[in-house]
Amino acid sequence: MKSSEFSVNEEKAETGVEKDTDVEIDPEDEEGTAVKPDSDNDSGTMIRISDVLEYLFCSRFIYYMYCLDIPQYEEKRFKVIKGREVHETRKLTNRDYVRKKLNCERKESEVFIASKQHHIKGIVDEVLFLEDGTAAPLEYKFAEYKDKIFKTYKFQLVLQALLIRENYNIEVNRAYLCFTRSNSMVKEMEISASDLKKAEKIIEEIIDIIQKGLYPKTTRSSRKCVDCCYRNICV
Ligand code: SF4
Repeated sequence: MKSSEFSVNEEKAETGVEKDTDVEIDPEDEEGTAVKPDSDNDSGTMIRISDVLEYLFCSRFIYYMYCLDIPQYEEKRFKVIKGREVHETRKLTNRDYVRKKLNCERKESEVFIASKQHHIKGIVDEVLFLEDGTAAPLEYKFAEYKDKIFKTYKFQLVLQALLIRENYNIEVNRAYLCFTRSNSMVKEMEISASDLKKAEKIIEEIIDIIQKGLYPKTTRSSRKCVDCCYRNICV
C-alpha cells in the first residue's frame, strides 16, 4: 500500500444518496448566497468554488444562474442531500486518525476563505499544516473511490490550494481526498503550478461570461442534458 493511500476500518455507511454526477452543491458553501455580479463595479464580482464545479459540468449553468438570474430548481434538494452527507461524514470518519497519518502538525477545520484577487471564495473542510512546512487542503467525500479522481474533485482541491496559498502565504503542492465510503481511503493529489494556472484561467472564463453576458456553447455530452433543470429553455 502506498503511503499516499490508506484506509480506516470504520462502520460503513448504511444510507446515502448517490448522485449521477460528481458535481456537488455544498449547503455550507458560502451559505448558498453567491454575490451577484455588480455591473457598476466589476472588480467586486465574486464566485464560489461550487460555481466553478457547475461550470466544469456545463458552462451554460453560469449563464442561466448569473446572466438570466434563473436559479437551479433543484438547489434546495441538493442542499438537503449534501447536508445529510456532511452529517454522515462527520459521524463516520475518524478525522484525527486521518490527520496523524498525513504527518500533519496542526489543522484548521471548516475554513471559509476568499480571494479578492482571484474573485473566488469557498470553504475548505480542513487546512492541514504539514511537517515539511507546506500546507494542503483535505476534502471529505461521502463517496466510494472509483479508481479515478473526477475532474470536479480535482479542481475543487486546486481552487482550495489557490485560496490557501494566497491567504496563508504558504506553499501548497499537494491535496488530499478522503473517501468515507471506501473505509476512509485517502488519496493524495499533486498540485502543480500548471494546475493553479489552469484554475485561474477557468475563473477568468466564468467572470467573462458573467460580466460580458457571453452565451456558452452547449455541453459536448448530451447525456448531461437529460436531467438538467434548464433543458426546457436551453437551445
Ligand atoms: S440542457 Fe444541457 S447544455 Fe443546457 S444547461 Fe443543461 S446540461 Fe447545459
